Amino acid sequence: MNQQTANRLPPLLVLGTERALPDLLINWLDREAEESEITMRTGMLDAFLPVPSGHMAIVVAPHRDPGLRDRVQELSLHIPTLIIGRPEERAYYPDACTWLDEHQMSPQALRHGLHDLFACVQGQLRPLLPRHTWIRQFRARTECEDGLFIQLVSCRWRPAAAGDSAELRLATQQSFEHQLRAQAPDDALLGKLLDDQFVVISRDAEALSKKWMKSFEDDINYLWTAFLSGPAPISNYDDLGGALQKCVRQVERIRMLQSGLGSRALSTTESLVVHDLIRAMRSKEFYLEFQPQFDTHTGRMTGAEALLRWLHPNLGVVPPTTFIRDAEMAGLIRTLGTWAMRETLQAWHRLSEQGVTLRMSVNVSFPEVADPDYAEKVLSLLEEYRVPARCLELELTETAMMLDASVSLYNLQTLKQAGVHIVLDDFGTGFSSLSHLSDLPITGIKLDRAFVTPLSGSDESLPQLHIVSAMLDLARRLGLETTAEGVEDQRCLDVINSLGCDRVQGYFYAQPMSMDKLVERASVHEAVLCDYSGQQSLF
Ligand code: C2E
Ligand code: CA
Ligand code: CA
Repeated sequence: MNQQTANRLPPLLVLGTERALPDLLINWLDREAEESEITMRTGMLDAFLPVPSGHMAIVVAPHRDPGLRDRVQELSLHIPTLIIGRPEERAYYPDACTWLDEHQMSPQALRHGLHDLFACVQGQLRPLLPRHTWIRQFRARTECEDGLFIQLVSCRWRPAAAGDSAELRLATQQSFEHQLRAQAPDDALLGKLLDDQFVVISRDAEALSKKWMKSFEDDINYLWTAFLSGPAPISNYDDLGGALQKCVRQVERIRMLQSGLGSRALSTTESLVVHDLIRAMRSKEFYLEFQPQFDTHTGRMTGAEALLRWLHPNLGVVPPTTFIRDAEMAGLIRTLGTWAMRETLQAWHRLSEQGVTLRMSVNVSFPEVADPDYAEKVLSLLEEYRVPARCLELELTETAMMLDASVSLYNLQTLKQAGVHIVLDDFGTGFSSLSHLSDLPITGIKLDRAFVTPLSGSDESLPQLHIVSAMLDLARRLGLETTAEGVEDQRCLDVINSLGCDRVQGYFYAQPMSMDKLVERASVHEAVLCDYSGQQSLF
């Protein structure tokens, strides 16, 4: 670093939290600071609170101490900060200017981190703000500035990265974010909506309309591809939702045209599977089974989940877990999903002719809900089959909701508003379920059977008991309906009932069954009758 640059740098604070500062860091920084003539002070974080402005900081993050964590976060919001910590703690510091993994600290990594910190201070590396902070600053900026443009940047990991280790994915993401921060226009306000979706506000329409974030489509050394929407004028906070929606559609279109499986050659095994799936669709080898769901308060059957089956000519009945991923990868899941939806809506009619009105649940995969026309398609199917929206429930996993979030969330919001039930499936298995619960357009959660089935154990101190109890409590507070799947015996049912879950599904009550069996079972079971016109909604 040359002297002129160093002279412009503010004093550097090197702070420890509950742990002593590593000698490596202190010794190395001493030398480095002397060389570049930076004023440096070391000490414990508490001695420097409240945060002195006009500084930059390097902090060794605390382990598992929420109080200290908050203070470090506070610091990183106020002054440019390089945080050194354990990888699992990283998510707690969205405002860190730059981050270093403490296990990988070496003079080289430190130099790199310091370089980023300086770049950040000098405005060469713009901060990447978490969603809420970005929205707040966006609002403030549109209130005092005209002539702003918005742009969406979507990042796709290369298939090689997607299949690789968590470390590689994290490194890929970090290098993408670094490029984004380094290359965005000078006045850009950068926000991170999701791990792979970013938003930019700038006055510089010309810079935004160039492909400033490279795709590296032909360079296999880069593990990502970037997709940019065109810059769209935006003048206030109220336009944000609509503008983002337009940008997302644009990016989706570009993505479909430029990349994806369409342009990637399939492996021999993949081709065989795809070939087999296409043949199976043509020769109608797929069928649905339905597994009833019961209301714990009344004991009545109130719904049924449609589960896909494949009657393979050589292999017999193939369970969905073995082919759903392949169908997704092969781009066939939308066709299969639409087919399953039609079958399910037809099934609803057969039941309704018997005087039985159930809420039918359909599993939905990520590529389906990421289709910009998904909501429209479902609504028109409901109309075509004359099924009330409240009699349809979509089961989605957290990943399906969060990937390509703007499109999928828009679709789900639209459907929820129309009255369709939206349930977060496999609840408890996603790593960030709790933090997203209040943001997602859902009406209920479905506890994963990994938590439910073990409740039949007699041990009162079972960890699953506490987990399920806490999850149900949280859902209740958020006004969400709860369903437990995987109820296999009386004991499990008793525990679930005592914890106050709304609905149950599982082998104890019923296995997945054919449509005919469901009709029979529903009629015998005095299924809940409700007025077709929707006046007597139980839901
Ligand atoms: P899921 O949505 O978690 O579905 C519940 C699975 O648990 C079903 O397995 C069901 O048969 C099984 N199950 C139900 N009650 C019990 C129980 O008491 N004990 C035990 N051990 N298992 C129980 P299945 O039918 O093999 O489905 C597996 C997965 O395949 C589903 O998991 C869902 O993710 C996916 N799937 C099924 N049909 C479709 C579909 O039409 N579209 C999409 N995209 N995915 C589907
Ligand atoms: Ca399901
Ligand atoms: Ca599940």
